[in-house]
Amino acid sequence: MSRTPGVAPLTPVDMTTLVTTDLVGITRGRSFPTDELPRYTATGCGWVPANIVLTPQDTIPSESPWGAYGDLRLIPDMSSRVTVSNGPDANAPAMDFIHADICETDGRPWAACPRTLLTDEIQRYRDQLGLQVNAAFEHEFKLGMATPQPAQPALSLTAQRQGAEFGGWLLSALRAAGAEPEMFLPEFGKNQYEITCRPALGVAAADRAVNLREITREIARQMGMSLTFAPKTEEHGVGNGVHLHMSLQDLEGNPKLYDENLRNGLSMLGEHWAAGIVHYLPALCALTAPTPVSYLRLGPHHWSASYACLGHRNREAALRICPTVSMGEKSQAQQFNLEFRALDATASPHLAMAAILIAGRLGIEQCLPLTAITDKVPDDLSAQERESLGINVLPASLPEALAMLRDSKALFDALPKPLTDSYFALKKEELTLTDQLSPAQLCEHYARLY
Ligand code: GLU
Ligand code: MG
Repeated sequence: MSRTPGVAPLTPVDMTTLVTTDLVGITRGRSFPTDELPRYTATGCGWVPANIVLTPQDTIPSESPWGAYGDLRLIPDMSSRVTVSNGPDANAPAMDFIHADICETDGRPWAACPRTLLTDEIQRYRDQLGLQVNAAFEHEFKLGMATPQPAQPALSLTAQRQGAEFGGWLLSALRAAGAEPEMFLPEFGKNQYEITCRPALGVAAADRAVNLREITREIARQMGMSLTFAPKTEEHGVGNGVHLHMSLQDLEGNPKLYDENLRNGLSMLGEHWAAGIVHYLPALCALTAPTPVSYLRLGPHHWSASYACLGHRNREAALRICPTVSMGEKSQAQQFNLEFRALDATASPHLAMAAILIAGRLGIEQCLPLTAITDKVPDDLSAQERESLGINVLPASLPEALAMLRDSKALFDALPKPLTDSYFALKKEELTLTDQLSPAQLCEHYARLY
């Protein structure tokens, strides 16, 4: 580089990005010089309606409700800003991004925005039910070392050591981002790890899931490692799940899911809420297990989910009452939470969480009874036993799940039409793009995309 005497050398400009995490769970956005942030805080930056129908393969469906026309704004939620300085690569620019809501150019909310859908549902919980939602998304992923190394035994200290440099940087970056990381652990699968963070209230929980995914990818990028959150990376290998832990509190923060005198410690409110989620679970899969490869993960004896039921400490149940410990300082009520397991990282955290909350609210509003509950592996029950308990099988494919969502009138009608029109158009396109792929090719395809 030549230098002119007396002229200051160039230095890279720091950038801030306004992001939206779309219907296929991909975080997209636009960047500007950080020192110009004040220009963007109130009126945001431009965005395009058709961006919401981008498939994971980055195509726009032929049946898209949005075309080449129209303009929107990404309006930042300044409380959601994430800043993380460079990690293992000393030359990497800092990460600086802010979650945004998609609005019309006059500031009205845009009906197909997944973050707005979740914000509105959280508000409905507050206004209509006097409740707030505390939630945490656990993520499993596969890590490929920069120099290939033999996989170590499941859950082992040697597997922990193999991932320790990565894990240390990851925990540091998540702390800097305010994501409150808890554990980094080697998992059951080959080269599989899991990262968990503390729960957050409302929309911040879904934002935190996005932050976790993006920061985890960034640390791998800086270390020259490959990483994927795809639900299956080998047809017969161990799946990567996302487990959503949720609890309900009143507006003062008192736990509302627990009642020590009732069955499994679940309060009446908790029973109706769980009953709603279980009732709509097969349809919810269209949004929580939203890609063709998701259905290679779901199934009996995978410790993921195969039937719509609640289980007490049962990892084969799609909705699980998690263990509490009766020692230490936290009360049982404070620890008590339900875990939704039929979820993976090809889903939008905002859309998935909103739909699960809608299902739970419908359960509360309709006082749905909870019958689909078992401590057994649901697949080991006879068909008659499952039928008498009202335990339904989860869909076996994405087209089946989409059909179930369309037929679940109360849930479907609770979702804004511009959002469902966009979602069905893009999922139809995604199915067409992948329908020639074998299971092994699907795994490989989605491992590259997620
Ligand atoms: N890997 C399992 C899944 O696909 C979860 C195992 C666990 O319980 O952590 O969901
Ligand atoms: Mg796990």
